[in-house]
Amino acid sequence: MSNQAQYKAIRGMHDLWGEELEKWHAVEKSCLSTLHAFGYTEFRTPVLEMLEVFSQSVGEETDIVEKQMYQLQTESGEKLVLRPEGTSAFVRAVLEHQLHRLAHPQRYFYYLPMFRYERPQKGRLRQFHQIGAELLLDPSPEADAEIILLLDQIFKAFGLTEYEIRVNSVGCETCRPPYKEVLKKYLGSRIAELCPQCQKRMERSPLRVLDCKNPTCANLVGNAPKMVDHLCEPCKTHHIRVSEGLALTGLPVVQDPNIVRGLDYYSRTAFEFTSNLLGAQSALGGGGRYDGLAKRFGSEAIPAVGFALGVERLLLALEAKSLIPKVDKGGSIYFAPLGKAAYDQLFALSFALKRKGLQVLMSYEPEKPLKWQLKQADRLKVEAAVILGDDELKKGEVVLKEMKTGNQSAIALEKLEEEMLRRFHQ
Ligand code: AMP
Repeated sequence: MSNQAQYKAIRGMHDLWGEELEKWHAVEKSCLSTLHAFGYTEFRTPVLEMLEVFSQSVGEETDIVEKQMYQLQTESGEKLVLRPEGTSAFVRAVLEHQLHRLAHPQRYFYYLPMFRYERPQKGRLRQFHQIGAELLLDPSPEADAEIILLLDQIFKAFGLTEYEIRVNSVGCETCRPPYKEVLKKYLGSRIAELCPQCQKRMERSPLRVLDCKNPTCANLVGNAPKMVDHLCEPCKTHHIRVSEGLALTGLPVVQDPNIVRGLDYYSRTAFEFTSNLLGAQSALGGGGRYDGLAKRFGSEAIPAVGFALGVERLLLALEAKSLIPKVDKGGSIYFAPLGKAAYDQLFALSFALKRKGLQVLMSYEPEKPLKWQLKQADRLKVEAAVILGDDELKKGEVVLKEMKTGNQSAIALEKLEEEMLRRFHQ
């Protein structure tokens, strides 16, 4: 035996094919059609970026930059990173192409694989896929509401309703620093009760303590001073208007003062969609406003708000509620020639049908017995098999076998193309 099986996909990274991939296609189709209805057009960035694209923007003390990036170094010494998240790469591209000088606002979405070195578990992978949307150059609270409504509609379009929308404001450069001091003072007085990681984080990133999953930290945080009570006037007004916008459309949200998001670049609105269908990794998606991110690349501030959803987690939630849309694969037939003469007849015809859009799978092994060929047809889950042997050739007809019922009927060879298109091409 060969030892091929020793070569495995990297832990936390999966192969996708067959019926599983068909589910993905159905889910993608619905997501893309909602994004289209909201006016978002696709943006693709390369899978590799310069290290600084993320280290400058996401924040040195975030999990992503501290420990989750797949880094590599080229022979010339360039440090590169496999994209761990979409927004920083998007803003790099906006600045590179000067898109912020163009029309206001602009709406983009991306659908790309992301790479993070995390401990794999249900709903947490090392290569996963995100669909994200970015609404650029609109500072208004209604833009934030639109982004939340868009993410909500992506889920609703499947009939998914079991999730909560948690919204918060993380303030801005004016009101966040004094709030951080207030929070630090509170946490400092209880430092012994914090988990070791939060004790370390507390000095430079006290906000991160707010979303620590450790039960004692979470308990402590319940009574901590809240950012929403320390917002400056403009941030407060913005926050209220986001909620008003959502209320106008009848979307219920929960105000959650502990939503701070794992990434440093957010200002004002931060939100998360969580679902109890997912287990421990309960976040379906999240996002927020990131007006200051462009400044981290040395540009002026560029108003922007966006979200990212995890496609694998969306699939998990949809599976749990049997909400994956049915895939309409269209018709498909199998050509089973028995012998060289039959093969010669069917070969060209199979391509004539393919060219007209009908899926035809033809056996290129006409010496194989009928039983073997029909077994392949069955495995390929085609709707019907066209059988042509010497007897049929003599009569100038083929046998059409419907796979589901097993019914067989004869069709004149000269009518075959027309009949196949009429019966199986949708
Ligand atoms: P983030 O970029 O961390 O805000 O994540 C946005 C969304 O991507 C999350 O809400 C998840 O749905 C998904 N996600 C994040 N990390 C992972 C991961 N390691 N594996 C699978 N999905 C993930």
